[in-house]
Amino acid sequence: MSHHGGMHIDHKPLILLDQDGPLADFDAGIHAVLASAGLDHTLVRWTDWDYSDDIRRHFGDAAVRLLDDARHDPGFYRSLPVVAGAQEAVERLLEAGCEIVVCTAPDLSNPTCASDKLSWIEEHFSALVGKVVMANDKTFVRGDVLVDDKPSVHGVMIPSWTHIRFATNGNAHLSDGSELASWSEWDRLLRLVRTPLAFAR
Ligand SMILES: [Mg+2]
Repeated sequence: MSHHGGMHIDHKPLILLDQDGPLADFDAGIHAVLASAGLDHTLVRWTDWDYSDDIRRHFGDAAVRLLDDARHDPGFYRSLPVVAGAQEAVERLLEAGCEIVVCTAPDLSNPTCASDKLSWIEEHFSALVGKVVMANDKTFVRGDVLVDDKPSVHGVMIPSWTHIRFATNGNAHLSDGSELASWSEWDRLLRLVRTPLAFAR
């Protein structure tokens, strides 16, 4: 078995999982804030990674401020729901012999985001406690793949991992079938991580 991430002494495929998007349902959190103001998220056509322009176009400036305030509120990241199928997928991938490390960039403008994210992992993914790397530049972190909903992940290093996009609102405009549409495709991720060169883009 060869992994282009290399250097992993256990020779297990090493999967880096972004937290918001693949594990924590950030979109659901945003939808709930909109619903609390009587706004229907299903009306929004998502065209950008940053929700600001899409929300402004559909609901106006006040709705953008409402979402920004909610996102910066202590506790927001602690209360996000789990993405459908994520717990089962993590279990299956661990059983299949993968190493999984959560790789997350805390929102530095939310004072409790970092600690809330750790508490959230402890509650919902107990097998991953102690396996969380917080990095605002994910290129510093080694791995075979990075499952992340951000359209493209850049930093100061050449990544050791291959990025696999996880479908969320923020990348819906890029949908081309190469992304993981949901965790029902966990076995596809397993095949990909076992043959990383097969999905190099
Ligand atoms: Mg994310």
